[in-house]
Amino acid sequence: MKIRAAVVREINQLTIEDVTLDPPKDHEVLVRIHAAGVCHSDLHTYRGELRAQPPLVLGHEGAGVVEAVGSAVTRVKAGDRVLVNWVPSCNHCPTCLRGQPNLCERLSSTTLVALLPDGTTRLKTLDGVTLKHYLSAATMAEYAVIDEASAIPIAEDVPFEVGALIGCAIVTGAGAVINTAGAQPGSSAAVIGCGGVGLSAIMGCKLAGCNPIIAVDVFESKLEFARKLGATHTINAREVDAVEALRALTRLGPDYVFDSVGAAGTISQALKAVRPGGTATVMGMHALKSDVPIPAGPLIAQNKRLLGSFFGSAKPHVDLPRLVELYRAGRLPVDDLVTKRYGLDDLPQAFADMEAGAVARGVIVFPD
Ligand SMILES: [Zn+2]
Ligand SMILES: [Zn+2]
Repeated sequence: MKIRAAVVREINQLTIEDVTLDPPKDHEVLVRIHAAGVCHSDLHTYRGELRAQPPLVLGHEGAGVVEAVGSAVTRVKAGDRVLVNWVPSCNHCPTCLRGQPNLCERLSSTTLVALLPDGTTRLKTLDGVTLKHYLSAATMAEYAVIDEASAIPIAEDVPFEVGALIGCAIVTGAGAVINTAGAQPGSSAAVIGCGGVGLSAIMGCKLAGCNPIIAVDVFESKLEFARKLGATHTINAREVDAVEALRALTRLGPDYVFDSVGAAGTISQALKAVRPGGTATVMGMHALKSDVPIPAGPLIAQNKRLLGSFFGSAKPHVDLPRLVELYRAGRLPVDDLVTKRYGLDDLPQAFADMEAGAVARGVIVFPD
């Protein structure tokens, strides 16, 4: 079928164009996309900074309605509302069976290089160039073919844009707090960077009962979002030294620091800021391809822990439905994260707004 999609043919070349999408194979599902989140990973990929290289269709946060299923699909049926899980774990490799499906051994040769789990693609440009599916998802398109492991059913009352964000920003941010760090009620927490993932971590801190919850960013606009979503204090790192300001608020430093940026500077800042014996968790991806210097003194002599967190250390088929239920129970205000909606053609503007700190989270919506 012919669909409209956000295509990156070469690094730094984004076009919204018609492409062809082949029907789903046995274990796959055709989803009509209703909402797709605009995430920093899409921007990094457009710039060629992550493992997935063009030509590809962007988008990995999405939700919509199942239109058709392959002959062997058992988890969903046509008409089901689903969110897209970009960690379609195999559930039979040793890592999956050890209980870490976010690190499934199949991902590195398929999903993370923008192929479907069977190692192929269903997308082509009209002039015949094979396109890959970013994170086995390619949700910045009117329709997507995904593996059934990528489809998580959601209830009627869950808006598509909420489902889309739960599948990436929310699970990455809240999962880092709840699963990776295991933050305890009453513990102090700081979140560096208040984009979609950082704000989700703030929601996670609130859910975990952290106090105080301190947001750190260089944009006043983002600190305002952070206060709305549960931050009890905010620090503008452009105006003051964030590490000193965090110590002033928590005596020795917060029990937990979450770095949603993941750049060399913020990783080092997180490790310095956390109290002796505390835990710094990095879930941002800016420095994904770099070696970064770590202040070894605090790490060793102050017994600090530095943890990486990928996909919120989540088990997708357990944690994503759980986060959906927390949303439905009013405990996870995902709606408040969506501050701007765009048409697919406005994707360049959505990227620009994200970089300018003008949105908590932008979402591409598709007309019914
Ligand atoms: Zn994302
Ligand atoms: Zn696996």
